Amino acid sequence: MIRRSFLGFGKPRLQYNLSPSPIRELPIPDKVILFLKGTQNGGHPSEIKVGDAVKTGQRLAASPDSDEYVISSVTGTVTDLVPYVDAYGGKYTAITIKAGGQDNWDDKFNKKTTFDTVLKFFEYAPGNPSFKPFTDPERTIRTIIINGMDQDLVLTANQCVVQNESAEIKNGVQVLKNMTNMTSIDRIVITVPENLVQQANTTGAELKVVSATYPHSLPHMIMKDMLGKVVSAGDTVEDTGVVFISAEAVAALGVSFHTGQLPVTKVVTVVGKDGNATNVRVRIGAPIRGVLQACRITLNDRDRLILGGPMRGSPAYSRDLPVQHGTDGIVVQDEDNSAKTTDYPCINCGECVRICPVKIPVNMLVRFLEAGLYEDATAMYDLECCIECGLCSYVCISRIPIFQYIRLGKHELGLIKTAEEA
Ligand code: SF4
Ligand code: SF4
Repeated sequence: MIRRSFLGFGKPRLQYNLSPSPIRELPIPDKVILFLKGTQNGGHPSEIKVGDAVKTGQRLAASPDSDEYVISSVTGTVTDLVPYVDAYGGKYTAITIKAGGQDNWDDKFNKKTTFDTVLKFFEYAPGNPSFKPFTDPERTIRTIIINGMDQDLVLTANQCVVQNESAEIKNGVQVLKNMTNMTSIDRIVITVPENLVQQANTTGAELKVVSATYPHSLPHMIMKDMLGKVVSAGDTVEDTGVVFISAEAVAALGVSFHTGQLPVTKVVTVVGKDGNATNVRVRIGAPIRGVLQACRITLNDRDRLILGGPMRGSPAYSRDLPVQHGTDGIVVQDEDNSAKTTDYPCINCGECVRICPVKIPVNMLVRFLEAGLYEDATAMYDLECCIECGLCSYVCISRIPIFQYIRLGKHELGLIKTAEEA
């Protein structure tokens, strides 16, 4: 396996949005849709039935011993349970809950600062944290990095939390310290851009300043820039002993362990066709349709709806999809301003190679991915070294959807590996 070093960037240099707008609270929606992972064949979970009354903050699991669960973000009645399959074939049950308009809070959450508690109640928290690496016997986690920066251009949801909720992040850092007191963890670091140093300084975490140039906020870049560590091809950041948690997730920990109420909202940056970005706080599971209406954004035929940011987000096929716990952004572009893709061939201009922060020979990689030769793409052209920044697609003169080929290639490679292990 070839390990590419980080050699620097070609042009253009893209800057993150460092001007978060204030957070606007949206009202409780009429209904929420929550995706419960891993129910058998996408079938109904045995523990949840249509007609069940649920409370805000109630843990809904497929069965009593299941690790997979969602947290109800409203008080109301379950009105629908249908199988849902995501873009990569992941199977879920879509649970629709008709909201009653008022919150009646569930009281099952205990405030013991243990790994068991966070695993049981916070895997569905905003910011999509995962606490499983802490209890994996095959890994030794030594460092927690709280990412106070957003992962894509234009988005400012995470920065907004650092700007407005540094006291809650401080409480969350204390929860992390209490929880990891007897473990191997010796560093809790917060990474923020220069303009949020003052707020981050009060959180009790070790402060590191991240560059305002994209893609320096991505975990692999932070590992290299801040810790001087390069993640080997095929490894995850957790394999090197580091866990990343978003500032929003840490603030949610801080609030929940203080109030006893589980987090049920998500901060989302909504970007309209004029490029203006607004931050809203919505219930997890709220349909995108209502969020767009609240932001006075009209969606017309052939407009593009993106979940996430412009560089790394995924297109959404329906405005009835819900905001999920990992949805940082909703971007709407009209047809004229949407990035076009083509099936033109590569002309070997080399722009993608020059811009790639990992110096992958993208021009060669894409040929193998287009041909479906995923194992060769990995062995010869470093597919697994890609940090998924999307810059190669951005600069491609032939408008080849390189980033989408890369994501598909990695997904298919994962399926091949799973099949081989089985
Ligand atoms: S997405 Fe493209 S530019 Fe970014 S690391 Fe991967 S191959 Fe390189
Ligand atoms: S930027 Fe596009 S056309 Fe140019 S070498 Fe890369 S893949 Fe080929």
